[in-house]
Amino acid sequence: MSQNNSLTGSGQDLTSSGNRAQWEDARTALKPSTPSRKPKPPKTENAITIGVSARVLFNMEKEQHIYEQQGMESYIKYQVEHETQPFSPGPAFSFVKALEAVNTQLRELYPESEELFDVVLMTQNHAHVGLRLINTINHHQLFIERFCMTGGNSPIGYLKAYHTDLYLSADPVKVREALEEGIAAATMFTPEKMAEVSETQLRVAFDGDAVLFSDESERIYKAHGLDKFFEHEKAHENKLLDHGPLKGFLEVLGKLQKKFYGKGQRMDCPIRTYLVTARSAASSGTRALKTLRSWGLEIDEALFLAGAPKGPMLEKIRPHIFFDDQMFHIEGAAEMGTVACHVPYGIGQRVIKREMNDKETSSAPK
Ligand SMILES: [Mg+2]
Repeated sequence: MSQNNSLTGSGQDLTSSGNRAQWEDARTALKPSTPSRKPKPPKTENAITIGVSARVLFNMEKEQHIYEQQGMESYIKYQVEHETQPFSPGPAFSFVKALEAVNTQLRELYPESEELFDVVLMTQNHAHVGLRLINTINHHQLFIERFCMTGGNSPIGYLKAYHTDLYLSADPVKVREALEEGIAAATMFTPEKMAEVSETQLRVAFDGDAVLFSDESERIYKAHGLDKFFEHEKAHENKLLDHGPLKGFLEVLGKLQKKFYGKGQRMDCPIRTYLVTARSAASSGTRALKTLRSWGLEIDEALFLAGAPKGPMLEKIRPHIFFDDQMFHIEGAAEMGTVACHVPYGIGQRVIKREMNDKETSSAPK
């Protein structure tokens, strides 16, 4: 079960007042090392909130291994002994840095506006480990003020309370729960070697079907293959597609892009979006583009690969993050150094879900 994956230990309740006091003490004790240049975080209802789990923001592989091999007590002991040693960056790190770079530019253009990215660190860790996380955030000079320590519980309630626009985690079970509640969410994977990405321009790449769009066309592809899919899409090019789980996130990116356009920054906008789809331009691209236009959404670059592998194209784009519902595209992207996130949504997940349910009954998800 997913609780087996909890790093809080059985019966720990981090929301109890004792633990909360311990947590507050920890924050106070660490205050002198907190950089004073941090601007005030925006109100959650105005912000574009990104919930990121500690395990994707930082590299905690070694610690996870200790927990799995030696148990909770050894894990906590190790974390406390290494409290002043910051974690190294994980797969979400450059994405979060790029969000902060966009915020810096937005604050310069619109000093009074609270339409900014706000990153919430989601963790199910023990409070002792929280100290090391705070030290790490300060060490890397990240602008993260909001922590959410769920004590091994589901993060869904917190994600809703924070009006979360995107949730990234290494745990596919939590990601599925979030999606089922209508929150844009994806499971993030760590490539062996991460490609270098821009520090000034945030680049986000999306698959189309079952990510930005619903899986209605994906069903045709699954049932009848790519050629029939192309034919079907050509025949239905004037019928708009329904929205998929990541549409809302593209929408908020578009809202921020317009703020830059309003100040004359269209060509050098610090946010750039990409559609990277297996659709072909000639036969099935029209329906995708018409749908995006009907939603009032622009995408900066649309790449129709007609079934060709996505990895090489993503290697050229160098996005901070790429979303797809098919694991083979995620694997292909990761092999070429792209940080890829799996969106477990739609027809493509039926088999995966069944396999995962079988696995959950025998062992904890990694
Ligand atoms: Mg797809």
